[in-house]
Amino acid sequence: MKANCISCQEMVDAGNNPALGEFVICPKCTAHLEVIWLDPLELDWPADNYDYEDDYERNYYDYQ
Ligand SMILES: [Zn+2]
Repeated sequence: MKANCISCQEMVDAGNNPALGEFVICPKCTAHLEVIWLDPLELDWPADNYDYEDDYERNYYDYQ
């Protein structure tokens, strides 16, 4: 199954039987993507790698 890389729009092959939460790496831009939906196959940034990463890390350390 293939889906578009959300970073560069390259078609990324997630294998014949991808699983939710599985990680795939775009062969063109090497973005690490997570399988978030299977029908149709959809890729997104892993949950701990959003653009608001700074806020996330600050919150993370506050809870230590
Ligand atoms: Zn890409």
